[in-house]
Amino acid sequence: MINAQHIFRENILRMPPYVPGEQPPAGTKIIKLNTNENPYPPSPAVGEAIRMFNTDDLRRYSDPFSKAFCKAAATVLGVPENCILAGNGSDDLLAMIVLACLAPERKVAYPAPTYVLYRTLAQMQDCRIVEVPFDDEYNLPVSGLIEADAAVVFIARPNSPSGTACGLDLIEQVAAGTDGLVVVDEAYVDFAEDSAIELIRKHENIILLRTLSKGYSLAGLRLGFAVGNPDVLATLNKVKDSYPVDALANVIGAAAIADQDYKNENARKVRLGRATVSRDLREMNFTLMDSQSNFVLARPADGKAHRLYQGLKDKGILVRYFKEARLDDKLRISIGTDEENAELLKALAGLVG
Ligand SMILES: *Cc1c(COP(=O)(O)O)cnc(C)c1O
Repeated sequence: MINAQHIFRENILRMPPYVPGEQPPAGTKIIKLNTNENPYPPSPAVGEAIRMFNTDDLRRYSDPFSKAFCKAAATVLGVPENCILAGNGSDDLLAMIVLACLAPERKVAYPAPTYVLYRTLAQMQDCRIVEVPFDDEYNLPVSGLIEADAAVVFIARPNSPSGTACGLDLIEQVAAGTDGLVVVDEAYVDFAEDSAIELIRKHENIILLRTLSKGYSLAGLRLGFAVGNPDVLATLNKVKDSYPVDALANVIGAAAIADQDYKNENARKVRLGRATVSRDLREMNFTLMDSQSNFVLARPADGKAHRLYQGLKDKGILVRYFKEARLDDKLRISIGTDEENAELLKALAGLVG
């Protein structure tokens, strides 16, 4: 038996592990609507970049600053290259922010419920955590976030698991009212009506996080990036892995982000699917708010969400169920292809009777 108390920090022993959505083995015949992956394949430019890749390039370490990708991202977003910092998924950038800014006696604040990883990362740092509840319409709790006086404020916009996007004016109010770093996590921005990107010009304490995982169908690649104030990014850079983005991800990511037309067309299809799924769920007496993401959070009329989660699973359809206050009566359902959405709706119709 190891002496865990001697080896591990006490807060690590105390914290629960982050539980990601189930990932069934590749090839399993299942309709997977539980982790908000894109139902469409990546851009053909991705396959082309892989075919063109010289395997001898893997002999050397990758570019520590992933310049090829950062250059492509800067062009697409219309910002200078030093306003982009790439990482091994946006989860990696979240970890860097937490490592650089949070420690015992320092504070992080975020509206709740939201992306569970914010809490997990904060618990690793053993810092003080201020969770400010969203109201029932998922408006941003501006004054609570400001009064927290935190070093870092995380705002997922669109938010997960609600799918809602808070007003940009409210993010501005938080940024103006705090000396902390306001991190707007735009993992789902490609499915939303707008972005907070204009705000980084006006507020030097706002940075955005983007990812190739959702909009660009590249969750398995692990590539994300931060956008904003070069001084903030330069300080974050001090805590990065030596080579956070591998050589393949650097070129694949550059090709994928350059193909905006392809990404936008898939996002359009996902939004159409979202409209159909939302309408049909409401016809089955589910309650849901309008989503700006590639998923919906829906409450069955009787609130018995776990029964439906299990019933769907028995039929080979995976959706997400959260055993948490405010969420345990709802299902989070990712939008799939038209065929997958139809299967889901048919299965649910059978289950709600
Ligand atoms: C999916 C997701 C991420 C993680 O993105 P990766 O780039 O795959 O690490 C970050 N934030 C939110 C809110 C997400 O839903």
